Amino acid sequence: SARPRFETIDPSTGKPGRQYEGHTVAEAVEIARQARKAFESWRSMSFADRAGLMHEAARVLRRRKEEFAEIMTAEMGKLIADGRAEIEKCAFNCDYFADNAETFLSRRPVDFEGHKAFVTFNPIGTVLAIMPWNFPFWQVFRFAAPTLMAGNTAVLKHASNVPGSALAIESVFRDAGFPEHVFRTLLIPSASVQTLIEDPAIAAVTLTGSVEAGRRVASAAGAALKKSVLELGGSDAYLVLEDADVAAAAKVCATARMVNGGQSCIAGKRFIVVRSVREALERSLTSEMERYAMGDPRSTDTKLGPMESVKARDQIHDQVRRSLDKGARLLTGGQIPDRPGAWYPPTILTNVQPGMPAYDDEVFGPVAAIIEAEDEDDAIRIANGSAFGLGSGVLTRDLARGERIAADALEAGMSFVNGNVRSDPRMPFGGVKHSGYGRECSDLGIHEFVNIKSVVVF
Ligand code: NAP
Repeated sequence: SARPRFETIDPSTGKPGRQYEGHTVAEAVEIARQARKAFESWRSMSFADRAGLMHEAARVLRRRKEEFAEIMTAEMGKLIADGRAEIEKCAFNCDYFADNAETFLSRRPVDFEGHKAFVTFNPIGTVLAIMPWNFPFWQVFRFAAPTLMAGNTAVLKHASNVPGSALAIESVFRDAGFPEHVFRTLLIPSASVQTLIEDPAIAAVTLTGSVEAGRRVASAAGAALKKSVLELGGSDAYLVLEDADVAAAAKVCATARMVNGGQSCIAGKRFIVVRSVREALERSLTSEMERYAMGDPRSTDTKLGPMESVKARDQIHDQVRRSLDKGARLLTGGQIPDRPGAWYPPTILTNVQPGMPAYDDEVFGPVAAIIEAEDEDDAIRIANGSAFGLGSGVLTRDLARGERIAADALEAGMSFVNGNVRSDPRMPFGGVKHSGYGRECSDLGIHEFVNIKSVVVF
């Protein structure tokens, strides 16, 4: 079959960047089989030996941090300072699972009528990971560190616009001294994924991406009776209650919305504000959002770089236009600047109602939607009315009230009070409803791709 080519474009200028020659389907299947073969010896290596290599991967990441941050900026426009922080986070994650995997996966004794009985957690083989471009390194390491520490091997199909990042990640494991084929990158288009899922070399699949990709990948995995984990989109709601400190709430909301230029699954997208504080919140949020001036992503002073691509920018502008046509009101932004590249300013829509894209759909860019609610119950109802259920937030001076709403009322995989949702290797990460299923990170994440086996010795 034909060899695919992957072309990169610098979204800050619109100029073409490096090009990469990809793998044919036959080559990709062959690499997956090599990874499956590597599993046989990798699984029997001790946790201590695997941990030594994983700590070395963390060192390689820190050593090559600048190079990796520059690749991300060139391929998808990430702010250079955010790129450096992302690499540090990946290194922390490698160290965390190097230090904790053995404890998380140690045998659990069971009291079973006096017989020796325990639960053991064995690796399952080679896991296929399909990953998005928005956090090109973090998304992959979030999956790879626990999966490899559990004794599995992995193959990566990364997003088509970040081939340089995909190859750089493979090189981290090579430089760290991992045995050959324990982690491999496949440069393939999404059309080749189904063949891989069907191949006996692949034991399970994980996808971080859109709802549509989730449906396709889960269907293929279901037909092949292979386990899947899905981390999909979100439309995270932040409830601003009448007793909130409005200035502080606006800061949390702006930070939540503007993470990674608004291109994060756990970005705050809907700000559900109780009527009595709506106008005050509108004013404060406008001044907070306007601080995110667009600028060169390679300058550490810049707070908002370009979006990932002109196509993505045009899509969110269309969502803004259609919301305005249906009666939303623009508080700031909403204009495409006259310059080459994928630029879009910080934008706020208020009076956002059902039937508008800003209410019903995920808006994957720097656009905040303000939705008015009558009271706490109404705000919870609106938040839970979404098809998504990834992150969520509550802003209130009453911490007991915030805790009750976060813990019991919001339909989401994560709920933070008076702070913006973030991922961390120590806390489980994932969603409910159309945001997907399964969890990454923490002791719960590492149990997704293991055989939970009951053993009794009579
Ligand atoms: P996307 O189009 O779904 O792409 C994600 C990955 O899936 C890419 O590698 C893509 O490959 C692949 N893919 C797309 N369609 C596929 C198919 N039919 N079969 C197999 N693979 C397929 O996602 P995106 O729009 O770039 O990324 C943004 C979305 O990801 C948002 O919805 C965001 O909320 C979500 N996301 C979720 C999380 C989370 O942890 N829950 C984190 C980050 C992002 P190609 O590039 O080759 O098409």
